Amino acid sequence: MSKKIFVAVAWPYANGPLHVGHVAGVLLPADIFARYHRLRGNEALMISGSDCHGTPITISAERAGITPEQLVQRHHSSFLKTFKTLGISFDLYTQTLTENHYKVTQEFFHRLSASNCIYKEIMIGSWTETLQRFLPDRYIEGICPKCDYARARGDQCDKCGRLHEPWELLEPHSTMDGSPVTFRETDHYFLDLARLQPELNTWLQSVDRSCWRHNTLQFTQNWIKEGLRGRAITRDLEWGIPVPVDDPTFKTKRFYVWFDAVIGYISATIEWAGRSGKPEKWREWWEAKTDRSDRIRSYYFLGKDNIPFHTIVWPAMLIGYGNRVLPYNVSASEFMTLEGEKMSSSRNWAIWLPEIEDRYQPDQIRYYLAANAPESRDSDWSWSDFVRRNNDELLGTWGNLAHRVLTLAWRNFGLAPEPGEFRESDQQLLTISAEAFSKVGGLIESVKLKAALQEALALAQRANQYLNEEQPWTLINTDRSRAGTIIYTGLVVVDRMKTLLCPFLPHSCQRLHELLGYEDVIGALPTIEKTTDIDGRERPVLSGGYSNVNRWKPVTIPIGQSLRPPAPLFLKLEENVAEEEREHLRRQAQVVDRDLKRK
Ligand SMILES: [Zn+2]
Repeated sequence: MSKKIFVAVAWPYANGPLHVGHVAGVLLPADIFARYHRLRGNEALMISGSDCHGTPITISAERAGITPEQLVQRHHSSFLKTFKTLGISFDLYTQTLTENHYKVTQEFFHRLSASNCIYKEIMIGSWTETLQRFLPDRYIEGICPKCDYARARGDQCDKCGRLHEPWELLEPHSTMDGSPVTFRETDHYFLDLARLQPELNTWLQSVDRSCWRHNTLQFTQNWIKEGLRGRAITRDLEWGIPVPVDDPTFKTKRFYVWFDAVIGYISATIEWAGRSGKPEKWREWWEAKTDRSDRIRSYYFLGKDNIPFHTIVWPAMLIGYGNRVLPYNVSASEFMTLEGEKMSSSRNWAIWLPEIEDRYQPDQIRYYLAANAPESRDSDWSWSDFVRRNNDELLGTWGNLAHRVLTLAWRNFGLAPEPGEFRESDQQLLTISAEAFSKVGGLIESVKLKAALQEALALAQRANQYLNEEQPWTLINTDRSRAGTIIYTGLVVVDRMKTLLCPFLPHSCQRLHELLGYEDVIGALPTIEKTTDIDGRERPVLSGGYSNVNRWKPVTIPIGQSLRPPAPLFLKLEENVAEEEREHLRRQAQVVDRDLKRK
């Protein structure tokens, strides 16, 4: 029976372009996972959107001399283009500025209030007189009361590691203009995590420990052990979702970004259902007490800095709301460094997707990010390694195998030749290629995507070895029938590998599918749709129609199937590419260094 697989992707913050780390750790793993489940015949729903609120966006917009809405739409459009180019197959990628999302968030708040999961309390806010506003901790610096370090941040000292409140700093000031910061009392709403802790514990004890990653479980348990405290869900700022209460002091406050962004998983599902013409269909994915709920599994994909919001805060909110499907697995990735150094937006030490997405084939980028994913430990993007893996693995091992087999078949037969009797060596390879479906599939289901890719590539290596031993290109002149059997065996294996690799490399697998003589679509790509929201603004989304016909099985290409003229699937990269790209990175970072010095 087919399962319902909900693929929730952490909402990218629309405050800057996407870099390869975002794709490697969050977007690509989610896409591979969703594509696999569709090929497996399961109903997958992959949802996310741009996170558009919060102080950092208002500050960036001010600096750029545009409105927050303009800034957000600029980045949102760039995200959509990247996802379309790379083939990130969202069923819906929307944003948090929609009327629908505002409505769902406010309703969520009402419901949590009604079930006593929210309380109001006075907080101390950091106020700057020159800017006439409250500032988040990240925009405050001062002298550390413990070690005298002069540039301690509002919430933590980077030198001695002390955690503190901003008012404990000596000479606290704003990092935006250096002006002094004073402290004022301000009312806020809090999510009562302490009250929800017992139920959270019960849920955490029931999760399938064999599929949760060690980092995620460990981190969550440590948090819980310390005892949970209430967390503020509102902020003093005017860019965000209004707090729906009849209280004038809340006129200048909005929901905190993390509160509304996680609710986006539900609001986006509601939007998706509305767009698909079945507005009630979202309930099948979220209402825990439907007869189908045992078949729903929700998988969340995020970076490790987002763990507490997905394993504590969001489940607590869902428990507080009641009758909602809780996460089945929360898959947090580690970080990706660049040429051995931490990626940094402020230093411009990053590979921005809009810069490279048109320079390389999408599957070249996808391959490197999947093979080198920061799955259970940090990984590094190195341009030399990018070139090497492309030439040796993607092209050398897999691309050449497919091209070699197709060329042999096309030149000598023009179609899938009729095999003679299979020998032991043929049979062995056919069996291994059939068994790969459960091996690769099992690894993907437990979100071990890197190992799944390795397993598929090992099959390509094995097939190359088989061809080298059997030498059909020599036999074709002396024993055409035997050569035909070997080439047919090769075609079957390449055809099966196309399915095994399709979640990772949808563009090239689709091309290969066509070269093998098929007509239909296996690597469907998303499309950008332009729509106008209730407020009259155009807010494009990413969407797509994806089939979930069960193809995850060892098929055998029909004998006599006509092939199309073969063409190589991947481009070789010259050795100097790595040096040129590194030089480009250094120049890009120097420009920022000079800018900083000038300030
Ligand atoms: Zn310190």
